[in-house]
Amino acid sequence: MINVTKAYLGSKNRFLRYVDEIYQSGWLTNQGPLLRQLEQRLCDYLGVRHVILTNNGTIALQVAYRALNITGSAITTPFSFVATTSTLKWEGIRPIFADIDEETWNLSPAEIEKNLAPDTTGIVATHVFGNPCDVEGIEQVARRHKLKVIYDGAHAFGVQYKGRSVYHWGDLSTVSFHATKLFHTIEGGAIITNDDALAARIRLMINFGIVDAEHIEGIGVNAKLNEFSAAMGLCILDDIESILTRRAEIGRRYEEALADRFDLQLATLGSQINYSYFPVALLNEQHLLRTKAALNRMEIFPRRYFYPSLDTLSYLQPQPAQPRSRSLSQRILCLPIYPDLEAEVQEQIIAVMLQEHANYLPFPAISKLPVPPAQLLASALPSVTGSTH
Ligand SMILES: *Cc1c(COP(=O)(O)O)cnc(C)c1O
Repeated sequence: MINVTKAYLGSKNRFLRYVDEIYQSGWLTNQGPLLRQLEQRLCDYLGVRHVILTNNGTIALQVAYRALNITGSAITTPFSFVATTSTLKWEGIRPIFADIDEETWNLSPAEIEKNLAPDTTGIVATHVFGNPCDVEGIEQVARRHKLKVIYDGAHAFGVQYKGRSVYHWGDLSTVSFHATKLFHTIEGGAIITNDDALAARIRLMINFGIVDAEHIEGIGVNAKLNEFSAAMGLCILDDIESILTRRAEIGRRYEEALADRFDLQLATLGSQINYSYFPVALLNEQHLLRTKAALNRMEIFPRRYFYPSLDTLSYLQPQPAQPRSRSLSQRILCLPIYPDLEAEVQEQIIAVMLQEHANYLPFPAISKLPVPPAQLLASALPSVTGSTH
């Protein structure tokens, strides 16, 4: 069975050496030595001032909103994993969607500006599939309207923009180190920032607001990462270059084989991406479902990331439709990509993709059919406004 990804486990012996250290020190969690080592190594690797490890990427977002005092509403992307939106709602912040760019699939700065409300205090944007957002465009909008900028960088570990980690942009970035991500700590995440005062506030918040044994300052939560997770991170970080290299090889082979038949995400100019996913836009949902079924018959399980478009979430209705996000979310299939994906299996996947494309399109001369305008496509969808909320 071939899934969209396979958790990377690194060297068992290396992991067990760290586990020995844990047994010797008896230190299992709470700012332990392995966690501190991992934070330092991540700062060095990413070239950033502060990496604050957390126990998952969702709580990292929740803490981030509080640390930056995001209240009222925030502009966010409808094309992301559900946690980008649900964390806002969970923290009592109203998510306002702005549509994505048709080519990069990221939140569009122009759309952000069109959708601002009087109570908007922040922008929460995802570098979707690791493709850097228009960080300069977003920064200009944020400056003009005095907004905080949070990047959900869950997919962007190892991604560079203009020669440095994409985590340099915005007031802060959050990351997920869940087992399915390119770099992971089993469960885990981080908040990344170059702002010393902000980092200090976040460190208090992730540990109940505890300053020391007898002082508590402000409201906090438990978002600490344990030592076993930190050990896994240290092991995997040793292999990060080979992980990125292998993913790029697989990703480039897919590109070479599929680019002239399918819509692929346009990599942002000046970026070096990480091939954390390999998303392909099919012609329409029917084509997607047929292709997915054909792959499933061969025990290959691609995933529909990100479906459904987040503007259709039941707990946020009624909600204006975001046509570009809706159209895209109906057409995207993420193909298997992970370091030890075998070349033969990849060739089988490619063969099925091409065969299903040929079957669907009776005229091979027209390889890329024009996609219907997003507006028209959206009007053909069932309306979500008026559903229960
Ligand atoms: C995985 C993911 C998260 C959530 O991270 P967890 O560590 O699973 O809590 C948030 N945002 C995006 C875009 C993700 O892909």
